[in-house]
Amino acid sequence: MEEHIVTKVIKNTKDISTIYFTKKDGSVPIFDAGQYITVLFKDLLPPEGKAYSLSCRPGLPYLSITVKRVGKYSNRICDLKPDDKFLVSSSYGSLFEDYDQDITLIGAGVGIAPLFSIINDTLLKNPKRKVTLLYTNKTIKDICFLKELEELKEKHPNFKLILHVTKEKDNQIDPKFIKGRFNLEEYLKDKVLDVTSDFILCGHINFVKDIYNDLLKCKVPVEQISTEIFFES
Ligand SMILES: Cc1cc2nc3c(=O)[nH]c(=O)nc-3n(C[C@H](O)[C@H](O)[C@H](O)COP(=O)(O)OP(=O)(O)OC[C@H]3O[C@@H](n4cnc5c(N)ncnc54)[C@H](O)[C@@H]3O)c2cc1C
Repeated sequence: MEEHIVTKVIKNTKDISTIYFTKKDGSVPIFDAGQYITVLFKDLLPPEGKAYSLSCRPGLPYLSITVKRVGKYSNRICDLKPDDKFLVSSSYGSLFEDYDQDITLIGAGVGIAPLFSIINDTLLKNPKRKVTLLYTNKTIKDICFLKELEELKEKHPNFKLILHVTKEKDNQIDPKFIKGRFNLEEYLKDKVLDVTSDFILCGHINFVKDIYNDLLKCKVPVEQISTEIFFES
């Protein structure tokens, strides 16, 4: 664990914030897209701290985590201010194996965090690779990194962005947002999603479990699926 210093905090949605930070000397450790770190506040439980995915891509002059306020740890992180110091571990995990395969990322809510890192890293390193993000949220206002994702879509014709909103009350929304839950089977059958791509899933346990099982049902080989589960309840 090493003390890091907060450089910036951006509120992405009503309950999600991104915290930007570096080591105290301003340097940034090497990590792989999709990895996570542990944050430790010594006066909070559990004593080993909690895991947070890096939402930035490697190679930038900062690290970032994107955190949803749900309890003590996440509130403490979202309340951090520039110049605050906090304890951070080195990075670990292997959600993303950087092969040449096309990738389909499926996320819900703050589950976008590691996916955003992977998308940015992949499009930068291999702009020809097909990258599809299927991202679901309750309402349009809950979509984290919407502007950044739309900019990526403008810049990279091979980046497909599919946005679902499940509880949007507004009846006059832009048709680029699809109302209701997505039907994975239909998306695979209609070739909206490519069954031969690698799949990377991130979100809460029920979401990841359901999609994982649906992918298996649709004959996606298990070795093509990677998952990250943020919380279980
Ligand atoms: C590998 C890994 C990576 C993770 N990366 C991130 C990340 O990038 N961003 C992030 O915000 N969290 C991430 N998490 C979850 C994080 O570690 C904490 O569990 C989370 O912040 C809740 O901790 P807490 O102490 O604030 O709340 P707790 O007291 O643990 O939880 C309070 C309540 O909120 C529920 N809850 C927990 N998480 C969520 C959620 N996302 N949405 C809705 N309800 C929830 C809990 O089930 C509980 O009922 C990650 C977890 C793992 C294992």
